[in-house]
Amino acid sequence: MSTSVGNGFLEPMPLVGPFPSGAPAIFIDQVARLGSEAGIISAVGDDDFGWLNIERLKRDGADVSAIAVLAEAPTGSAFVRYRADGARDFVFNIARSASGQIEMTDAARALIARAGHVHVMGSAFAIGGIGRVLSEAVASVKARGGTVSFDPNVRKELLAGQGEARARFEEILAVSDLLLPSGEELSVTAGIDEEKAAVQSLLSRGVKEVVLKRGAAGSSFYLQNDRGHCPAFKVEELDPTGAGDCFGATYVTCRRKGLSPASSLRYANAAGARTVTRQGPMEGVSTFAELDQFIEEHRLET
Ligand code: ADP
Repeated sequence: MSTSVGNGFLEPMPLVGPFPSGAPAIFIDQVARLGSEAGIISAVGDDDFGWLNIERLKRDGADVSAIAVLAEAPTGSAFVRYRADGARDFVFNIARSASGQIEMTDAARALIARAGHVHVMGSAFAIGGIGRVLSEAVASVKARGGTVSFDPNVRKELLAGQGEARARFEEILAVSDLLLPSGEELSVTAGIDEEKAAVQSLLSRGVKEVVLKRGAAGSSFYLQNDRGHCPAFKVEELDPTGAGDCFGATYVTCRRKGLSPASSLRYANAAGARTVTRQGPMEGVSTFAELDQFIEEHRLET
């Protein structure tokens, strides 16, 4: 991460890092920090960036048995610099990295066989081999009566036309119990611009729960017969990276524990808000004790 504000990386500049990262890794780390059993299917290179991620996930209690360590590819990485308006410039090395080579392995199969829920990150659709992994994971978990959540954080360009990515997207959408879109992802997912109509369309297509992430405006949940909104906690935003992932992980974990949608949303908002106050994508993950304390401290300000 650049420590200066500006456009891109066309000149030498001070950086801070490396930080463990990647949307699916942030998500699973947050689930683990909340004390739930969770594992990730991924791949890293046999280099310090890869081991940094594995060691952090392991330390926080995530199952890392299905992270392949590839000898021939570097760990995926991203360099980010913030512009004056808060937008971000990235240099990515993902497609040609180890994470671009994720595929089904015996270890991944063993992890799937133990799972009662699968969370799908839309960003993974850019990876060629991911389709088979997702199909197998979803079929296996659903056959055991498990559930599926889906964060449709897919680049719009990837879904253009009727290519492989769009087909995969529709396949996951058709079996999703819980959907966690943010911003324009709702209309891209539903194919409908207006918010209410988009939500209603998704619910009528079989999604049981739609949760909208609204950044500093909080979040909302929609079920067939219930709905609610939770305003965001008032915090000073230092780094928005990872907020949506920590939010989603917390909501899914709370619902799996049997908490109500309203109570789950409150915990998720707290997790998202805590994340934006820390620099580094995975540095703001929370335990339940930290969330309870945060909610207590911010009770009068919301
Ligand atoms: P995404 O990163 O997926 O776009 P959001 O930016 O909407 O997701 O963030 C997810 C959640 O984190 C929000 O719904 C909100 O609860 C919390 N959050 C995000 N930004 C802020 C902020 N500046 N202040 C307080 N809470 C925030």
